[in-house]
Amino acid sequence: MDYSDLIRYPIRKNESLQAWNAADELIVEYSKTLNLLNKRVLVINDFFGAISCYLNVIDLTTYTDSYVSSKSIEINSDNQVKPINDLDLLEGKYDFVFIQIPKNLNYFEDILQHVNDHSHDQSQIVFGAMIKHLSKKAFSLIELNLGQLSTSLAKKKARLIFAKNQLSLRKNKYPQDIYLEDINKNIRVESNVFSGSKLDIGTRYFFDFIPEGEFDKILDIGCGNGLIGVKASELHPKATVIFTDESAMAIKSAEYNFRTLSTNQAEFYWTNCYEDGDDDTIDLVLCNPPFHQNHTIGTHIAEGMFKNAKRVLKQGGIMRVIGNRHLKYHLALKRIFGSSQIVSSNKKFMIIESMKK
Ligand code: SAM
Repeated sequence: MDYSDLIRYPIRKNESLQAWNAADELIVEYSKTLNLLNKRVLVINDFFGAISCYLNVIDLTTYTDSYVSSKSIEINSDNQVKPINDLDLLEGKYDFVFIQIPKNLNYFEDILQHVNDHSHDQSQIVFGAMIKHLSKKAFSLIELNLGQLSTSLAKKKARLIFAKNQLSLRKNKYPQDIYLEDINKNIRVESNVFSGSKLDIGTRYFFDFIPEGEFDKILDIGCGNGLIGVKASELHPKATVIFTDESAMAIKSAEYNFRTLSTNQAEFYWTNCYEDGDDDTIDLVLCNPPFHQNHTIGTHIAEGMFKNAKRVLKQGGIMRVIGNRHLKYHLALKRIFGSSQIVSSNKKFMIIESMKK
């Protein structure tokens, strides 16, 4: 077994990031001390498959919200592990649960409530995390939803946390139905959706810069709760809006919100950067790109979105992007499209446009 054989999807030339961390190693090492024979095992939030691939288990369920993680797990396991992407698909009680603690603690709370529902009082629940990412809130959420916990000694800057299900199930507050006063809309958000129960100020700023024109197909790439696409559909009711995101919860929320707020045409895809979209089919791409994947910060996902946007745009089609000024997306867009222009900016954000020539 060699962790360095694991890939991160999408596979990039000269990848500098590794596909596992010390918390994955600790979980796998600890699992070897357990008797998992004939036991039901659940793995949650395995980033690239290090846990799912290296646990020696027959009855394994792996859940992830992330398309990128899901593809990585499939590839790294030679298609032996097919993750599920909805917590509501968990069935029955699991004897062992191994969890990589996610960055988003609303999502973690949602996970914990499902784990409470799908474990028994003898189930062993094991959490892994890098110490620098562990917050007091994560500990208190475990205590609130499962009960007393204990921790392992730190090793390679990672730690395990152990718990058993000692508490009765609390009422799950996710998904959340919220009213956004600023735009006078009721929306629903799943726990792992960007900006949670608030309207992101960048998204709000972007609403006023959705271009006018004749558009048949509009792509909302990295749609989150879907409000950019909803706004585009209000302004261009004859267009089909394509919503796409790598978070299954984002797609679930965007679809719910669009169907509740509109009767216009729309499509919804859970995928990486719309990589499977057809070439030369889109008139307008709208994008508020992510700048992190779990705890990894970088512009590589944004650039993946820009490259795919260029590919799927028709000639003369345009891409509009909002980003924090310091991320300098106008330079990446210029590199990819040949030119870019700043449509608007304020102290914090820039809105940039590029056209496919
Ligand atoms: N458009 C939404 C808004 O403005 O509220 C969300 C913007 S948020 C900054 C970026 C979105 O990109 C998140 O919903 C995230 O899940 C999504 N994302 C991250 N990586 C992605 C990828 N590889 N492919 C598609 N979407 C991705």
